[in-house]
Amino acid sequence: MARVVTAEAYLVDIEVETVRTDAMQSFLKQETIFVEVATDDGLTGTGYAYTIGTGGRAVLAMLREHLLPVLVGRDAREVEAAWRALYDSTRATSVGVITALALAAADLALWDLRCLRAGEPLWRLAGGFRRSVPLYDTEGGWLHLDQDELVAGALESQAKGWPGVKLKVGKPTGVEDAHRVRAVREAVGPEFDIMVDANQSMTAAEAIRRAALLEPYDLAWFEEPLPAEDVAGHERLAAATPIPIAVGESMYSVGHFREYLQRGAAGIVQVDVSRIGGITPWLKVAHLAEAFNVVVCPHFLMEIHVSLVAAVPNGRYVEHIPQLRAVTTEQLAIVDGHAVAPDRPGLGIAWDRDQIDARRVA
Ligand code: MG
Repeated sequence: MARVVTAEAYLVDIEVETVRTDAMQSFLKQETIFVEVATDDGLTGTGYAYTIGTGGRAVLAMLREHLLPVLVGRDAREVEAAWRALYDSTRATSVGVITALALAAADLALWDLRCLRAGEPLWRLAGGFRRSVPLYDTEGGWLHLDQDELVAGALESQAKGWPGVKLKVGKPTGVEDAHRVRAVREAVGPEFDIMVDANQSMTAAEAIRRAALLEPYDLAWFEEPLPAEDVAGHERLAAATPIPIAVGESMYSVGHFREYLQRGAAGIVQVDVSRIGGITPWLKVAHLAEAFNVVVCPHFLMEIHVSLVAAVPNGRYVEHIPQLRAVTTEQLAIVDGHAVAPDRPGLGIAWDRDQIDARRVA
């Protein structure tokens, strides 16, 4: 038995490491909702979820008042049953962002326990496909950066041996976006991946028009061109352009991914382990995508996603946006343009408890 004896949640504000802007928003601070689950065999698992600045206290309240009491007394080894019990206790607020984030924080704590108990790292216990995965950089591609800065950032990533960079798009005109992308493509040459990301800022009609302007630059993908709920719009766009369409960071259920995949509306899925509700549903999306012969390139959270991308055969890329350096004692290992999954038992994130405590706000 590994009965849950205590389950606690708290909120920590982590300062952003650099200015990050896109077509729709700025990253204000990383509200980080931690969950710690202790079992009667003496182990404690730590999970977390995040927002980019708002709603963290709602997630915390959901956990404290509704979800964590459901967890106490359960067998922590039976993660599917625990996840389902938590989900079923939130029928009136599922599917939804706040609930998904709360589920994720709890689920990650259970997976941490599962890995600690097995003495295995997450990347192996979740599937164990390969130890290291290609990394692309987003930190040099924010929308407020000027063209020279974009080019410098891309060249810097290329010089490090990283295989790609992502550029934010959504300037007032498509021509401006295209000029910025062209400048980067001319600087890095043809053998380097460039992704673009519109952060749901466009209509299908506008995205089709802008995709045509971007086609000459051989893009690896066009990310979140439209609001995530516009599946039909993505389907039209995917049929209209040779650029692969990437979606997923704003999707909160396995069924939403199924709909995209079934309709051919996504060529790449970017399932975010926090926003989908944890590792348990993340793996389902990854395996579902594999069945459709689609790759997974998860959004953000490189510190945990490195282990999940390494776990599955269709993991293609990890996104480089470091955001936990202030509260961890070890950095993500990067070797020859690849992120290396941590090999210690558990989720593989070396939390700095003192730094976390110093940033605790609730
Ligand atoms: Mg994005």
